[in-house]
Amino acid sequence: MHDPLFAERPGRNVIQIREVATQMSNMEQDRWSRVKGRLRSTVGEDVYSSWFARMDLESVQGESVHLSVPTRFLKSWIQAHYAERVLACWQAELPDVHRIDLTVRSAMRCAAPAKEPAVATDPRRVEPGDGRPHADLKTTATTPVSASHDALGGSPLDPRLTFASFVTGRSNTLAYAAARQVAEGRRGDAVMFNPLYIHAGVGLGKTHLLQAVTWAGNAGNERKVLYLTAEKFMYGFVAALKSQTALAFKEALRGIDVLVIDDLQFLQGKSTQAEFCHTLNALIDAGRQVVIAADRPPSDLESLDDRVRSRLAGGLVVEMGSLGEELRLGILKSRVEAARVHHASFDVPEPVLDYLAKAITHNGRDLEGAINRLLAHSKLNAQPVTLEMAEREVRDLIRPQEPKRIKIEDIQRVVARQYNVSRSDLLSSRRTANVVRPRQVAMYLAKTLTLRSLPEIGRRFGGRDHTTVLHAVRKIEALVSKDATLSDEVELLKRQLQE
Ligand code: ADP
Ligand code: MG
Repeated sequence: MHDPLFAERPGRNVIQIREVATQMSNMEQDRWSRVKGRLRSTVGEDVYSSWFARMDLESVQGESVHLSVPTRFLKSWIQAHYAERVLACWQAELPDVHRIDLTVRSAMRCAAPAKEPAVATDPRRVEPGDGRPHADLKTTATTPVSASHDALGGSPLDPRLTFASFVTGRSNTLAYAAARQVAEGRRGDAVMFNPLYIHAGVGLGKTHLLQAVTWAGNAGNERKVLYLTAEKFMYGFVAALKSQTALAFKEALRGIDVLVIDDLQFLQGKSTQAEFCHTLNALIDAGRQVVIAADRPPSDLESLDDRVRSRLAGGLVVEMGSLGEELRLGILKSRVEAARVHHASFDVPEPVLDYLAKAITHNGRDLEGAINRLLAHSKLNAQPVTLEMAEREVRDLIRPQEPKRIKIEDIQRVVARQYNVSRSDLLSSRRTANVVRPRQVAMYLAKTLTLRSLPEIGRRFGGRDHTTVLHAVRKIEALVSKDATLSDEVELLKRQLQE
C-alpha cells in the first residue's frame, strides 16, 4: 500500500505512528460514543434509532466534524431537522467544533458494501452529473442493432413468449393492450405513454409480455427493441466502463427505439441508478419508448431516488393482478397446444384441465410446470393423462392459499369507508379527532398487513414522518388491548382486507 507518511520512515517509527493513530482514534471513538449518547437522550430512542443509528464518524479536524450516513435521504433529513442538535451535542463534548459536514457514505468511500455492484467501487465510476451522455440523442445517427446488442448485452429471448401465446383475461387486458400499442408503434410516431410501467407479482406474465413486445417490435426490422434485465443493464454498463468503452455503450444506446427493462426492482447501486436515470431521461426526452416491468409500483421502489420514481410514475403504470381461474384455464390450454406441436399424441382431457385450473392458483410458472410434468409422465410411461395421474403428479404444486398481497391503497379505502371519511382526509394534515383515529388505524394496518417500511408508509400517507407512523402503530396497539370496540373494528377491517 502506498502511503507517503509511512514510506519515508523505516521500522520502529512506523509502529509508533500506527499506535498514535489508533490511540487517537480510540479517543475519538470514545468521544463519538458520548456524543451519540447525548443525541440519544435529546431526541429519544425512537428518533435516534430511526435516523442516527447508521451515522458514522469519519474524522474530526479542527473545528469541523465529518460524519457520514448511508443514504442521501438520511442526509437531507438530518440536515433539515437535526443539524443544530447534532452540532450542540458535539459542542458539549468539544467546544471548538463549529461545523458538521455530513456526507453520503457510498459516494465517498472506496470500500462499498459487497451488495453494491462493482461499478460503485470502480475508481472510474460515473458520478451523478457526470456529463449527461444522451443530451444530443435526437440528432445522432443510429447504429446497427447487432452492434447495440453486442455493446449492451441484450438478454436472451425465449421464442415461446410472444403475443400469440399470451392469454388475456380481466387481470391483464390493459397491460396487454398497452404492450401491443407500444410494439406496433412506428419510428417517428408520437409516443403515447412513456414509460410504460407494468408491475405484478412473480409468475404473472411480466417477462412474457415484455419479451412479446420485443419480438413483435423487432419483427419489421424497422425499429430496434432492446430487452435487458435490470441485471444485464448493470453488468453491461459495468463491463463497458471497465473496458473503458462507456462511450461505445452510450453510442450504441442511441440506436435504440424501444428500451425494455425487466425486473427493475433489482437495479442497485448509486452510480448504476444515476446512469439509469440519465438513460431514462435521455430516451424519453428524445421520444424513444421505454417499457419497464417490476414486482412493485414505482412508489415502492425504495432504493430509487424520488426523481426517478416520479419519472417512472409519469407514464402509464399498469398492474397485472393475479390470474383468475378462467385465465389459468386459458394458459393451460395454450401450453398443451404448444406441447402438441412436438408431441402430437399428448392430450389432456378437459376435466383434468379444469382440475388443474382450480387447484394451481399460485402463478403461471406452476401452470407451465404442471403441463411439463404431465407431458413427461405420459411420454415416459406411454400412458394417457388421467385425473388420478394429474392429482399425483402435481400434488406439490398445490399450495395452501397464499395470503393476499394487501395494498396500502386498499387499506386506506376500506378504513375510509368504515369510518365514513374520505381517503384524502386520511392523507391530509387535518387533525380533528374523527380523522386522526381512522388515520392511525390505517397506518397500523399498513404496518401489520404489509411489508412496507415505516418511512414508506409515512410517504404513502401524505408524506408523513416515519416517527408519526411509529407513534400511530404503538397507539393503536395499546388501544386494542384495552378497548374492545376498537379491537373488534380492527379485526373486522383485517378480515375485509384479507378475504
Ligand atoms: P413474471 O415475469 O411476471 O414472473 P413470467 O412472464 O415469467 O412471469 O410468467 C411465468 C409463466 O407463466 C411463463 O411460462 C408464462 O408464459 C406464463 N404466463 C403468465 N401469464 C401468462 C398469460 N397471460 N398467458 C400465457 N402465459 C402466461
Ligand atoms: Mg419475470
